[in-house]
Amino acid sequence: MLGSSHRADGGASSPLKLLTMLMLGAAMACLMFWSAFVQAPAAGADRPTIPVLSPDVLSAGEVYRGAFTPDGAAPDVRYVANSGMLVTVSGRRFLIDAPIRDGISPYATSSAAERALLENARAPYDRVDAILITHWHEDHFDADAIAAHLRRRAAILISSPEVVDRVRSAAPELPASRLRAVLPPYGRSELVNDAGVPVHALRIRHNPARRLPEQHLGFLIGGSSPVLHVGDADPAADNFALLAPLPRIDLAFLPFWYVTGEANRTVVSHAIRPKRIVAMHVPPKDAAAVASQVAASGMAATVASTPATSLSLPR
Ligand SMILES: [Zn+2]
Repeated sequence: MLGSSHRADGGASSPLKLLTMLMLGAAMACLMFWSAFVQAPAAGADRPTIPVLSPDVLSAGEVYRGAFTPDGAAPDVRYVANSGMLVTVSGRRFLIDAPIRDGISPYATSSAAERALLENARAPYDRVDAILITHWHEDHFDADAIAAHLRRRAAILISSPEVVDRVRSAAPELPASRLRAVLPPYGRSELVNDAGVPVHALRIRHNPARRLPEQHLGFLIGGSSPVLHVGDADPAADNFALLAPLPRIDLAFLPFWYVTGEANRTVVSHAIRPKRIVAMHVPPKDAAAVASQVAASGMAATVASTPATSLSLPR
């Protein structure tokens, strides 16, 4: 039964078989054409893109630890208190946003013993070349504390006219050559060469604040692998556009919310582009929580949490 049926089908369908084979052949050719010229680009769009180790393609929260190789001599950093740092760059010592006295609660201040070292310019604060102050807020600046240090040692002060005037009032006997007032227009920088290594004073605006300091500066210290301190700068991309023509930043001192806030991390990755970060301005009571948030951010950042200690910087 099966055999006869097969024979009958075979005999009756020869032209059909040819037609079917032709149609199958045409279908296969169409499929091959589709695969080669039409389907391939569509499939390619679903492929993962090749990772590029450039900060330009990193978005918020992406890991860029190890994407860059630090070059040159590593800066040496001692965390003073709050945003206060003692930074050695190319053999020159810079005291940034320190010394302070009462500060602003809940932010860190120096112990009485540390204050004595700072204000009497004793080790490790004995060979400071320049004191750099970003703005007058009490958690970044104290005129009497700075005047005390400047009376002991020959450091110079580099800051805005507002800050310099307050120190001049506190210590009128200091020679004018020790007090360097600088205030470029907003969005511009000015090179100051008085401290032995180049220092760019950056006119970047303060975070929106109740007592807004109009005269707020950031500092870019050093030549080919500079160190950046932003004070209390507003974390917005346009605030850091002035960095574009300046040397690529090795180490950036940034308020911790630049690292823990997702939108702020985008600004850091795209507009500041540091190789590594020290997260500062940490209230002591929040130090543990900030440390875990910074660790979870994936950024190459060290948290400045214990005043009067040397920081081990990210590699
Ligand atoms: Zn401030």
